[in-house]
Amino acid sequence: MILLDRVTKVYGNSSTPAINRVSLHIKPKEFVILVGTSGAGKSSLLKMLTREEKPTSGKIVVGGIDYDKLKDKDIPLLRRRIGVIFQDFKLLPNRTVFENVAFALEIAGMTNYEINATVPRVIKLVGLQGKEKNFPHQLSGGERQRVAIARALARQPKILIADEPTGNLDPKHSWDIIRLLEKINDYGTTVVLTTHNVEIVNKLKRRVITLNHGRVTHDQSQGSYKQ
Ligand code: ADP
Repeated sequence: MILLDRVTKVYGNSSTPAINRVSLHIKPKEFVILVGTSGAGKSSLLKMLTREEKPTSGKIVVGGIDYDKLKDKDIPLLRRRIGVIFQDFKLLPNRTVFENVAFALEIAGMTNYEINATVPRVIKLVGLQGKEKNFPHQLSGGERQRVAIARALARQPKILIADEPTGNLDPKHSWDIIRLLEKINDYGTTVVLTTHNVEIVNKLKRRVITLNHGRVTHDQSQGSYKQ
């Protein structure tokens, strides 16, 4: 599903690579937690998966797509296969819950008929029925993150990248979001989660990949994390 072969990323003329010969294989339907201190290279790795950044050297293949052969016109297709959610939610403030999710589908070229069938389904999946007409400022942090998840899932991605999704949430809402990610994973989506939350990492008992100075220093199948 996700294959990295000796991937290196050097920004500009920096003398130290942000990612240094990283090789990884993440299987379909895996739930992987990526950890590491600030500056370890997590964002750089995720940005190469979404093609916001290109590696300086090495090979990346995601869902059978070889990034070396990827043309600019194929990037929208790639982005449809990979959903991303962020710490700061990135919702459109002047649009309702329904419209935030629908907008992502309009961009993807779905018809109104498809949009009206899909949006209620994903809103239900994330547990936001009844909030369709609310604006983001009328929601709690946890609910806003659910909207972001609904928006990412609406396009039925094969992979969901969750980049510090609980960074702005209190413990209860954090766990609600983590449980939702587990449910999405149970339905068959590969999940790549980054977090600094030691308790979440240790309780989840999932594969934990640790980055340090751009290198993978640990890759444990029921991993733990010490800061
Ligand atoms: P993390 O997400 O683990 O905090 P990053 O991938 O953001 O780590 O950063 C890894 C290294 O790459 C850091 O030394 C950072 O300063 C550098 N870096 C990240 N993005 C850029 C960029 N756009 N230009 C130059 N250096 C960058």
